[in-house]
Amino acid sequence: MRNVVIIGSGPAGLTAAIYAARANLNPLVIEGGAPNLPGGQLMITSDVENFPGFAHGIMGPELMDQMRQQAARVGAEFWTENVTDVDFTDRPFHIKTDGDREVYAKTAIVTTGASAKWLGLPSETALYGKGVSACATCDGFFFRNREVIVVGGGDTALEEANYLARMASKVTLIHRRESLRGSHIMQKRALDNPKIEIAWNSVVTEIHDPKEGKVTGVTLHNLKTDEDSFLATDGLFIAIGHHPNTKLFEGKLTMDPQGYIITTSGRPLTSVPGVFAAGDVQDTIYKQAVTAAGSGCMAAIEAERFLEEEDSHG
Ligand code: NAP
Repeated sequence: MRNVVIIGSGPAGLTAAIYAARANLNPLVIEGGAPNLPGGQLMITSDVENFPGFAHGIMGPELMDQMRQQAARVGAEFWTENVTDVDFTDRPFHIKTDGDREVYAKTAIVTTGASAKWLGLPSETALYGKGVSACATCDGFFFRNREVIVVGGGDTALEEANYLARMASKVTLIHRRESLRGSHIMQKRALDNPKIEIAWNSVVTEIHDPKEGKVTGVTLHNLKTDEDSFLATDGLFIAIGHHPNTKLFEGKLTMDPQGYIITTSGRPLTSVPGVFAAGDVQDTIYKQAVTAAGSGCMAAIEAERFLEEEDSHG
């Protein structure tokens, strides 16, 4: 029986772990395991320039490593496993993992974050890992002095494009509209980069060539002119946003139509008393590492108060 079980190990989960451990709650973090890396989206991000405390920026994986070490040092315990089932109907809550372990918890903090979205083309699935990627930091190295495409118009796409431009000979950003969604500073960086070209009003409708077992180009459909064209490329990076990782909680916690867990405005309370949610899994607006960390802190404080109140009522 645990006071607090934290499901997920991004900035929200690890911050919750640091606060819960320092409150002597002896938290267990079920951090996730294969096929994914624990640590969440920052594990597949390059430079993080907007997390306070790092004057010269920090690499995403290094930031997560520091957070994990900090949580472990103050007493958090980790299981590197995936949660397979949760029962939030009665307290204590019951949580099972793919490591064939189970745990009972007086409170639970859900911080399972979000995952990259894909275009949904069969050729995309066929060529995944063979030139199709959602992670420039992981795979950019393979495209040194070669031409690549990035799909998307938000901060992730702009960040990927800027990162890839350091090594690739040319980056084409493909965006479905005429104006970018990303922040002003990221837009300016991409627009000023001579290696980055933008194909506006365009979508990728086919990736070539699964028969060759590698990416050779894409079919581009121009939404304005309704014309198709072929654009040769060596690699394709998809950066079109994220969806919340909440499948596990369907029918167990109240969610919005997009699958984000609904929390009480301004607080990390879910539809089940004693279950809290923090980070991108419940954030439809900010989705930043620092806001995730902040909400993880709030969830741990709420869990602590919930347990105290329960104790005081016997
Ligand atoms: P996002 O802001 O939702 O942008 C997704 C982009 O992909 C949009 O431009 C969207 O087009 C496009 N898109 C979506 N579905 C598509 C499809 N099926 N086909 C083609 N294009 C599609 O997602 P994000 O860029 O991952 O960013 C998420 C959040 O994280 C944002 O709040 C962002 O500011 C933040 N973030 C911050 C940083 C940073 O500050 N360094 C880095 C990364 C992310 P439309 O514009 O037409 O909708």
